[in-house]
Amino acid sequence: MSYPINTAQHLTIGEVDAIDLAKTYGTPLYVYDVTKIRQTMRDFKAIFEKEDVPYVVSYASKAFASKAIYQVAQQEGIHADIVSGGELYTALAAGFDPKHLSFNGNNKSWDELTMAVTEGVGTIIVDNFLELQLLSEITTQNGVKQDILLRISPGISAHTHEFISTGQQDSKFGFDLLTGQAKTAYDIARQNENFNLRGLHAHIGSQIFDVTGFEKNAALLAETAKSWGFQPEVINVGGGFGIRYTSEDEPLPESEYADAIIRTLKSKAAEYDWKMPEIWIEPGRSIVGPAGQTLYTIGSRKDIPDLRHYLAVDGGMGDNIRPALYQANYDAILANNPNASTQEVVRVAGKYCESGDVLVWQQALPKTKPGDILSVLATGAYGYAMASNYNRNPRPAVVFVENGKHQVVIARESYAHLIALDHDYMLKNGK
Ligand SMILES: *Cc1c(COP(=O)(O)O)cnc(C)c1O
Repeated sequence: MSYPINTAQHLTIGEVDAIDLAKTYGTPLYVYDVTKIRQTMRDFKAIFEKEDVPYVVSYASKAFASKAIYQVAQQEGIHADIVSGGELYTALAAGFDPKHLSFNGNNKSWDELTMAVTEGVGTIIVDNFLELQLLSEITTQNGVKQDILLRISPGISAHTHEFISTGQQDSKFGFDLLTGQAKTAYDIARQNENFNLRGLHAHIGSQIFDVTGFEKNAALLAETAKSWGFQPEVINVGGGFGIRYTSEDEPLPESEYADAIIRTLKSKAAEYDWKMPEIWIEPGRSIVGPAGQTLYTIGSRKDIPDLRHYLAVDGGMGDNIRPALYQANYDAILANNPNASTQEVVRVAGKYCESGDVLVWQQALPKTKPGDILSVLATGAYGYAMASNYNRNPRPAVVFVENGKHQVVIARESYAHLIALDHDYMLKNGK
């Protein structure tokens, strides 16, 4: 691998010197190359345009939600998927058109559903029987006819980590297909005058590397609708397209996943003599993951002879919990000189008080010294989104870089932010 550098041999991101970014904004620092984000969004759209099928590309914003990313998505003409009132609030604050939002989630509250209906969220992806009931009451009270999809639990298991696989039958998400619950939900939804049931949804998991799960899922949704005598306007096959975290990952190009889905649904539509349904996809990780990286300052090290070299950085599980949570792996490079030849293999650890606080399990690096800047690559998805204040560390800033320009889009938290919601305890001995 060779990485983009400038004449100082420093890593560049979107034509900006990474060491300058670290100096200007401090570390840890999440940096996104917006050119890459836009390119992936355009690539997804281009596949559907080329095949001339109706489609919606909806960014699964739980991967990284901020006002700025909703604004980029809107500029690129793609929709967004939200999973909470907080994401809805952020999207609205960003000026995102609520009609282009779809709302997923297995336990949406009365308040969240009310907010979605009254703010004009385009599509609610209904997950369970309680939600059908709540949404019926809310739409009636507000005199709204709401577009909905039904989320089906299709009983397809994608080959991925158990905690990020959602399509198998033993899942908390969606109406179960095999036991007939999905058909019951369909009957309820069709009878309700406040619902405009546009189609079906199923998401089979995340970080998926082959097309067969997507083909099966698309075919199953079409077959299911057909078996109910339902001609859907929308088939939403979810997201989960795999990305390269390390040089050992071999993801397919976006076009292969999308092509397989398009082929499957074109043939089903022809077989059933349907008007071609809109194909919806919900990529999250594949849009923001590869476009993001995290800069850290290298600090202490611990060398255990004949066992391991630990290199500690100024962040860790509070800004990227994925290695601790899923044994996820990353590549890291020395931003001061990313193309220098490597001299040792280290484990990159964080500063948090947990032995499992690791960022990179095994990494070959040049010799480093305290103060050098390390970049962990492909951290754009589920990094900031899952960040915490564990050990009362403030969350880092997020910077967007594009064409040599850079801008903070989420400010670094201060110590004052950490106690902003704290109250002094007023009772003495319980009185
Ligand atoms: C998480 C999720 C996605 C996005 O998954 P990625 O792996 O980030 O592409 C899409 N749809 C639904 C319903 C999800 O829960």
